Amino acid sequence: MSYIYVVPIELKDHSDLGMLEAFIFETFHLKTRRREFEINLKGVFDPSRGQYNSSLILQQLIMKPPPDADKMLGVLDVDLFIPILTFVFGEAQLKGIGAVVSTQRLQNRFYGLPENREVTSERLLKEAVHELGHTFGLVHCSQSKCVMNSSTYAENIDQKSAELCPLCQKSIKAERNDSVKKGFPFSWWGEK
Ligand SMILES: [Zn+2]
Ligand SMILES: [Zn+2]
Repeated sequence: MSYIYVVPIELKDHSDLGMLEAFIFETFHLKTRRREFEINLKGVFDPSRGQYNSSLILQQLIMKPPPDADKMLGVLDVDLFIPILTFVFGEAQLKGIGAVVSTQRLQNRFYGLPENREVTSERLLKEAVHELGHTFGLVHCSQSKCVMNSSTYAENIDQKSAELCPLCQKSIKAERNDSVKKGFPFSWWGEK
């Protein structure tokens, strides 16, 4: 039995995690487990940017995965970046085990707007499924409603659904069959 581990990393508000786990199960048909791991956030903080390096968080997250971990999803509430981009909502390894997502820029209050809990939760679902989708080998999808459509701004996230389009669902199935045959390949790092 393998699981998708949902790993809160210094996350203050856990109230969306139950719903998130249920939706992950519905989408990827893998059971979830919630567990905290030792992650050093202070060490990956870039003071000149005021942000946290998401690749270095991902590296720590996947260092010692539990033997029954199929995927590991880190959930944070701090601002994330990778060096070539001003920010990322999250990051994932393409066809790998790890993904991270942050609620920081999913909240309306980040943009000086009144906070809307429902909107934030919905965006978190979508971005978590999106990043996990990359770990299942999915690349960005041109279908505007597909959750694998790439989102540059929070409003882009609102325009897509939380679901994988039929083509993306199909390629996950193909990838799963393939990785069972060949062993689990780790390939290049995905972006946001
Ligand atoms: Zn798609
Ligand atoms: Zn992406």
